[in-house]
Amino acid sequence: MAPDGWFRRKGNAAGKAARKHLDALPDGLWTKCPKCGEILFSKELEKNLKVCSKCSYHFKLGAVERLAIMVDEGSFVETDAGLVTINHLSFPDYESKLAKGCANSGLNDGMVSGTASIGGHSVVICVADFGFMGGSMGSVYGEKISRAFERGIETGSPVIIVNTSGGARMQEGLVSLMQMAKTSAAAAKFGRTGLMYISILTDPTMAGVHASFAMLADIIIAEPGALIGFAGQRVAAQAQVIKPPQGFQLAEFQLEHGMVDMVLPRRDMKDTLAKILAMGARR
Ligand SMILES: [Zn+2]
Repeated sequence: MAPDGWFRRKGNAAGKAARKHLDALPDGLWTKCPKCGEILFSKELEKNLKVCSKCSYHFKLGAVERLAIMVDEGSFVETDAGLVTINHLSFPDYESKLAKGCANSGLNDGMVSGTASIGGHSVVICVADFGFMGGSMGSVYGEKISRAFERGIETGSPVIIVNTSGGARMQEGLVSLMQMAKTSAAAAKFGRTGLMYISILTDPTMAGVHASFAMLADIIIAEPGALIGFAGQRVAAQAQVIKPPQGFQLAEFQLEHGMVDMVLPRRDMKDTLAKILAMGARR
């Protein structure tokens, strides 16, 4: 007869003990990577620009965090900060969702716009925040994008937009969908000046934002592993006669098929933008 304990699942017991140990640690000290499952020391993760040191998974960044690692220190000046969304359609519970979005992100809306410099080059910059209602595009979001293009024309500056969005904001119905046309028209007007527009697609950039200004840039850069597309994967699969290939909405697939110009790790973003802006300035 086997000695007692031979068939006990020691690994599982050890795992339970480890989890118990982790549960006992203060909140926020550790972060689990959603891709590889590695338990990461939160401070190290922050130092690594919120990229997993084991599998290079790029965690989502808030707009403020993004600006901090992308633009020259102290150069960002916010514009149109006072624009506040109203409930055009008296959509039920919209106000409470807006309040929750504000609390989650610390912002008035899912899009922050302003002016800054990158590597000494002046730019007009907009950064989306997924923490505000999934980065959905409503009237304020669209207005800020349109004004950014106008500001680019007025000041002769390149425009950079960092995108992350689940799409149009359904609580604003047609007003939200209209932002697709409005921002696209603004991008086209800006394009006619010959000034440079750079769009950065981060995880995820989908639907109404993907189908408007986000894909109309002169240079489209994506972060590794970002989900980029119009319809969600399940809807896309249902709508097509041919089954879409595996991972067809990932940044790397989009690069292979000419939809984006480069896939750039987060740590290389600022320097690469500075180089591109320098080339644009020499034209
Ligand atoms: Zn990982």
